Amino acid sequence: MKLYSTVNKNETVDFRTAVMRGLAPDGGLYMPETLPEMPMTFWASLRGKSLTSKARIMFEILLEGDFSKAEIKEITDHAFTFDAPMVRLDDQASVLELFHGPTLAFKDFGARTMAAMMSVFARKEGETVTIVTATSGDTGAAVAQGFHKAPGVEVFVFYPSGQVSPLQEKQFTTLGDNITALEVDGTFDDCQRLVKACFGDDRIRQAKQLTTANSINIARLLPQMIYYIHAISEMLPAGGTGPGKDARPIVCSVPSGNFGNLTAGLMAHKMGLPVRRFIAATNVNHVVPDYLEEGRYHPKPSLRTISNAMDVGSPSNFDRMLDLYGQDHIAMSRDILGAWFDDRQTREAIVEVWERFGYLMDPHTAVGYLGCRRHTAENERGLIIATAHPAKFPETIESMLPDAIRTPDRLMAAAAGLKQSIPVQADMDAVRDVLLKN
Ligand SMILES: *Cc1c(COP(=O)(O)O)cnc(C)c1O
Repeated sequence: MKLYSTVNKNETVDFRTAVMRGLAPDGGLYMPETLPEMPMTFWASLRGKSLTSKARIMFEILLEGDFSKAEIKEITDHAFTFDAPMVRLDDQASVLELFHGPTLAFKDFGARTMAAMMSVFARKEGETVTIVTATSGDTGAAVAQGFHKAPGVEVFVFYPSGQVSPLQEKQFTTLGDNITALEVDGTFDDCQRLVKACFGDDRIRQAKQLTTANSINIARLLPQMIYYIHAISEMLPAGGTGPGKDARPIVCSVPSGNFGNLTAGLMAHKMGLPVRRFIAATNVNHVVPDYLEEGRYHPKPSLRTISNAMDVGSPSNFDRMLDLYGQDHIAMSRDILGAWFDDRQTREAIVEVWERFGYLMDPHTAVGYLGCRRHTAENERGLIIATAHPAKFPETIESMLPDAIRTPDRLMAAAAGLKQSIPVQADMDAVRDVLLKN
């Protein structure tokens, strides 16, 4: 796969370079130069296959020349270890559950795939790759769990002491092995500053091959295409006239913050995946729904909500969306409708879905549900992308539905582990010492 930067399309890089860099040196985001268009018979041929086999088939098409078939199998076997089941609510709406991974959120797919790819690169070069990442909670958990025991990769997670929820802290401090948690005496901004400073530090750079696990990395988007392909290939009408023959067009509602998840869906759509429309569903941070409606884009400071992983006022993947549509607002708004909802509507949706269907949604998924209800027509079917498990948000849910939550065992297991972190002052000398000693 060749990739260009959204800032300058003339210079292309290979896949490995794009993954190791994350962001292009000109500040742009990497995009695949071509996404081959596949015929309907191809999508139909995937029906009935497992998520892992579909991932393997798609990566063999997309990453031909970047990895051998054996390497692709190794990557997909590592990354797609949990299922993405679909749950039917009623005749109009189904939920695609992407939260059965170790941190109970869809980001596990991206983090695990990136980890497996970096392991393959590290082995080929006979060198260890060092990931440095700053977190205020979720990212650190997904990255640490995804990279845990990945051969040839070591991870340093920087987090602000006392400012991460206890459960999230456990998710990245109890693993050990190749995961080191640096508990910084400072704020999240200090952590981000220190991570940046590592890249500018000659002594660290001489000793280590540094990279980031940033969410704008193209290695996180490719695996996110797979679950759209997985779900939609299963929804295509079966041949003949049996009960599986539902030819209604499909609408995907995607609860969004940085719009990586939605962008991945658009990339699959560009390959010909039959989706009639996407719904960009947000909380009150609605700069993208505003753009879709009015054609003007105004990034803003973010507002806090109960769907906090979507509290983004300047979405990092918006440039990729523009790029996919050649900067054409009309073209984009033909494929994507925006919808946004406040916390009161989100809470009401959680209760409504529980009372009507006995199904418990987390606040992010509830925003997707509302988007689906608003923009799915009578003769269409809605697919709601469920991004997190409700047990991750006990405060919100227990205040309304005290008996609804069932906490999965793996969340309990992390909570029981022993925290191991290295306390550091928020200065570069302290950080350098730790990195060079470990
Ligand atoms: C990250 C996240 C989102 C937003 O995904 P984007 O790709 O940033 O749009 C939605 N829900 C949950 C639970 C998340 O963790």
